[in-house]
Amino acid sequence: SGRWACARALVKEFEEKCGTPDARLKQIADALTVEMHAGLASEGGSKLKMLISYVDNLPTGDEEGIFYALDLGGTNFRVLRVELGGRERGVVHQEFAEASIPPALMSGSSDALFDYIAEKLAAFVADEERIYEQPAGKERELGFTFSFPVMQNSINSGTLIRWTKGFSIDDAVGQDVVVEITKALKRKGVDMRVAALVNDTIGTLAGGRHSNPDVSVAVILGTGSNAAYVERAQAIPKWHGPLPKSGEMAINMEWGNFRSSHLPLTEYDSAMDAESLNPGEQIFEKLISGMYLGEVLRRVLLRLAEETCFFGDEVPAKLKSPFILRTPEMSAMHHDTSADLKVVDDKLRSILEISHTSLKKRRVVVELCDITASRGARLAAAGIFGVLKKTGKDVVKDNGEKTIIAMDGGLFEHYTEYRKCLEKTVFELLGDTTGSSVVFQHYNDGSGIGAALLAASHSLYL
Ligand code: ADP
Ligand code: MG
Repeated sequence: SGRWACARALVKEFEEKCGTPDARLKQIADALTVEMHAGLASEGGSKLKMLISYVDNLPTGDEEGIFYALDLGGTNFRVLRVELGGRERGVVHQEFAEASIPPALMSGSSDALFDYIAEKLAAFVADEERIYEQPAGKERELGFTFSFPVMQNSINSGTLIRWTKGFSIDDAVGQDVVVEITKALKRKGVDMRVAALVNDTIGTLAGGRHSNPDVSVAVILGTGSNAAYVERAQAIPKWHGPLPKSGEMAINMEWGNFRSSHLPLTEYDSAMDAESLNPGEQIFEKLISGMYLGEVLRRVLLRLAEETCFFGDEVPAKLKSPFILRTPEMSAMHHDTSADLKVVDDKLRSILEISHTSLKKRRVVVELCDITASRGARLAAAGIFGVLKKTGKDVVKDNGEKTIIAMDGGLFEHYTEYRKCLEKTVFELLGDTTGSSVVFQHYNDGSGIGAALLAASHSLYL
């Protein structure tokens, strides 16, 4: 019928606009390396902040003692205690507690957010008091993983540049987040010193390196997306400090804010961006990360419903509600292997109150999941290819050297189709020989352990 033809045409148009042929991915990777150079050359030289992490030594394995980590990244935050046993014993023990950030706190005041976090940390510490008594005069030390763009002034200070991932707490912008959390800890009576402030990418890089010396890049694919890597200090013109002994510096790219005219943006992306809390910002992140994939899908489904009566004569009311279709739900539909696409049917009913869809229509839903997720995964792959190019790791060395990419984040961990597509595309872009020297390694909680390791190497009590 005419409606079906219209629906097919709309899907086809979306697919074309989302196209990511290899040639385009290579242009995107090249554009990324150009921006990397510009961001390293001068402060404000690029949309890519290429932030200096003040981490010039990644963990060696000698770290020892009990350290804490606080991981604030987006939807959840975690408190960890990690016992490090030095070269012989590695990570001896770890414990954690997790809580979600109440949505109201994501747009409230700085004090309210940090008080909430400090309270959870206080409860965590109170629970352990008898087992892990601190020696007199020695404060507990903490690695604070704070996964938003921060301009660091030292390993344990830095001001918040802006919020991302749905946070918007105005009075925190421009503040030193270590001062803020330290004040909150004091208010809540927690005796703890922030020894290291790190981004989750830097934490993952550190955690990854601790378990494998071939780790030199870290990528987060969770609510948001970002990457970090080890750069030669000589290749950072904007660094005016003393050259580190190691000759290296870990760089937090803040690649979520990358944009380029080569990115395949559709009208759905533009509308989502315009209505977001941070219009014009984090364009790459909005194409590839978990917070946004489901929302793009919802927008396409809504258009289908409006223009082709895809779900009946009336547009389902729930479909008009922003962010109602979350990426884990999209992923469940995408992975539906049942002959009658039962999971798709279930999700459409339970989330969108859409019932009685034909199998043919459910197949279209899966197709749209695939288009959206593949675009994201292939673009993320182009980003990784760009970083490998910048560091000369896109050409294989004769010495059998491996490049290990430390990966973390719920999207990479749980969205199998996305992950497979990402890995396959990186391999494709590198070509067979180099491709087989690059390995993806998932480090669950790498960022938390990495933060504890960096707290250890920057301890006052060494
Ligand atoms: P954060 O990025 O907030 O630090 P995570 O790394 O745990 O936290 O990532 C959480 C994100 O991962 C969610 O917002 C969601 O987008 C994505 N995610 C979680 N579970 C799944 C899943 N089963 N399928 C696809 N994406 C998922
Ligand atoms: Mg995280």
